[in-house]
Amino acid sequence: MARQRRTHDPGDRAGQANHLDGVIPMNQRLTFSLPSWMSPFEQSWRGGGEATRMAFVIQAARRNVHERTGGPFAAAVFESDSGALVSLGVNLVTSEQLSMLHAEMVAIAFAQRRLGRRDLGRSDCPRLEIVTSVEPCAMCFGAIPWSGLRRVVSGATDADARAIGFDEGPKPRDWTRPLAERGIEVRTEVMRADAKSVLEEYARTGGVIYSPCDRH
Ligand SMILES: [Zn+2]
Repeated sequence: MARQRRTHDPGDRAGQANHLDGVIPMNQRLTFSLPSWMSPFEQSWRGGGEATRMAFVIQAARRNVHERTGGPFAAAVFESDSGALVSLGVNLVTSEQLSMLHAEMVAIAFAQRRLGRRDLGRSDCPRLEIVTSVEPCAMCFGAIPWSGLRRVVSGATDADARAIGFDEGPKPRDWTRPLAERGIEVRTEVMRADAKSVLEEYARTGGVIYSPCDRH
């Protein structure tokens, strides 16, 4: 009988040699930082309805491009009824070298930390929505129901992101339907042209177009 290889055995030096031999020990905390321009930008929010919320998010995406602090994407969590801003996120994939840091993921994480709960859809709390400058990719599409958010508003489309070379990943073609089936309302193509122009500016000015790290 063949002896099973135990790659996680601390004594198995051969199992570690390929990757981690002699490299930095694992950190006990994972941190990432928002760009310094974001705090005053967030404080400039004065409230408003759907179009105003989207305009604010698109402006954040554009600022992220101008400041060279990440990809051309932004997202924010708002209280649906009052328009209060709960959190703002921008894409930090390239600046932090963390593939998970899409704008929606950053906005969701900060909303959960700020409110102190992972469930952003609790029925005894104000209804929350995410407004995102570009429709969610496969990862963010998956993260939305996990977060409990009740509503999604998106600007530019998957096709707009693909047009400049971004890969939005394997998500359903009719991605709004499975969300709707879970009771999550979705509005798409809100101020699409403005949101798309941020993508185009990013590509035109030499922004990094990163892809999933697959090897097919
Ligand atoms: Zn995403």
